[in-house]
Amino acid sequence: MVELTCTNTDEAGRECARAVVPSSPVSMCQMHILLAAHFAMEMGGFGTGIVAAGGKKSGARLKYGRPSVVYYVQQDTRIKIGTTTDLPTRMQSIPHDALLAVEPGGNALERNRHREFAEFRVNGEWFEGSHRLLSHVSQTRRKYGEPMRAWEQVARHAAAKILDTGQIRIL
Ligand SMILES: [Zn+2]
Repeated sequence: MVELTCTNTDEAGRECARAVVPSSPVSMCQMHILLAAHFAMEMGGFGTGIVAAGGKKSGARLKYGRPSVVYYVQQDTRIKIGTTTDLPTRMQSIPHDALLAVEPGGNALERNRHREFAEFRVNGEWFEGSHRLLSHVSQTRRKYGEPMRAWEQVARHAAAKILDTGQIRIL
C-alpha cells in the first residue's frame, strides 16, 4: 500500500511530506490539519472546536491558544496602548498615523502598561508620547521586530501550541 503524504508546501516550495492522517477528508498531515482548524476557528471566532481526526479519538475536543499582542500606535503626539487577538483587523478600525511596536501579551500586560505609564494618560487608552513611553516603544520594537512580522510569529506560535497541549492524539 502506498503511504499518502501531505502535499502542503512551505514558503520555499518544499513539500511537507509528513504522513496524511488516516481517514482524513483532505490530504493533510496532523500539523497542517491543526493549523487549518486553528485558522478556521479564528475566522469563525469560536474558542473550542471539534477536530474529526479519525481513529479511536475521533472528535477529540480541541482547545487552542488565541494569539494576542499589546500594540502601540501613534497619532500626532499621542500613543495608544491596546491589546488585540487580531492585529490586522484592529489596525483597520483604529485611526492612527503609525503602528510602532507590538509585544506578545493580552489584557494583563495591557493593564500593567497602562499603570506603568499612567502619569502620561490623556484619556482611555491614549497617552502623551513622553520620552519614557517612546523609549519603551523603541525598546519593544528592537526586541520583537517589525510589528506585523512580530504579530505573525505570535499567531504561528499560538497555532503550534495546539500540538503541545496533548489534548489531541490522532491514532
Ligand atoms: Zn503537512
